[in-house]
Amino acid sequence: MITSPYHLQRCYALPRCRVCGSKAWVKIPWGNTWFCRTHFISYFEKKVYQTFSRYTPRIHKKLLFAVSGGKDSLAMLYSLAGKLAEEGYSLAVLFIDLGIKGYSEYARKAVEKAASDLGLSLIVVDLDKEHGFSIDELASRKSTFSFGKPICSLCGIVKRYLYNKVASDNGYDLVVTGHTLNDIYAFVMSNLTTGNLEDLVKLRPYVPGSASFVARARPLFFNYEYENRLYTLARGIDVVLQPCPHSPLQTGSLTTSFKKQLLELEKEHPGIGLMFMKNFLKKVIKSIEYSKPSQELVRCSICGMPSSSNPCSFCRIKLKLGKA
Ligand code: SF4
Ligand code: ZN
Ligand code: ZN
Repeated sequence: MITSPYHLQRCYALPRCRVCGSKAWVKIPWGNTWFCRTHFISYFEKKVYQTFSRYTPRIHKKLLFAVSGGKDSLAMLYSLAGKLAEEGYSLAVLFIDLGIKGYSEYARKAVEKAASDLGLSLIVVDLDKEHGFSIDELASRKSTFSFGKPICSLCGIVKRYLYNKVASDNGYDLVVTGHTLNDIYAFVMSNLTTGNLEDLVKLRPYVPGSASFVARARPLFFNYEYENRLYTLARGIDVVLQPCPHSPLQTGSLTTSFKKQLLELEKEHPGIGLMFMKNFLKKVIKSIEYSKPSQELVRCSICGMPSSSNPCSFCRIKLKLGKA
């Protein structure tokens, strides 16, 4: 039986599944609810599907699932792909091989297995082969070139750029990503702290596309990482278990601190993150949107992709590495 890492509680009566009354396998602390394994799987799949279908308009046909090989994006893919395929969407999986030794090779295997299990076509972008650099190289040369950002921010720029480019080059009209409630909470708090309203208003379960940017869906917007891990355990899904060797370099970054803060808050107030995200979406984001000035886009003179700056952030990284 599994309880939340931050809500281990002594239980005197044998807990029972809320749905079928059999012996419970897991506790959902914010709902004070227990489920057996089977009904936890149903609860999870229903929740992810509801987030997707409630916020994503039915205008998209070709969906590209950006999958890293970790528990979150794989939980998203396994829980959603079957239902969306039944509904007639055309689906494919995108994996970016970031060239991180001791990590990317395992992540790639997990994604290849998932695509094969689900009968989906897989697009792999090899950063080193196709763009001449890897995240390992970027991490080792970071200080020399003074990018002024933590490695995970640079990695994020690379991934966002490639999701958009691969989707638009291959005719996909929606990119589906595995950002979790924990990620989005940390992004919201970081952007509030730095006053970055432009990025703050994009933190929602669905961001419409434009002439230059492919639409995004985040069906794990209301999912804690804890739930995603449980789902992969419940279904026996192979995920990459090795931690990315660059993640410790994040220590001290604002988003990492806010992620830790959320875990602390959840110990005392189970479900506070969920309440925060619901209120942020329903009340806060709308008022910010009305007051924010619109940002003008330009075309990157190197790669031709739309960007708020010229060259775009991706090409600036390549320029600094001498790879443009
Ligand atoms: Fe990229 Fe950072 Fe994630 Fe590693 S931990 S894959 S560097 S974002
Ligand atoms: Zn049950
Ligand atoms: Zn560019």
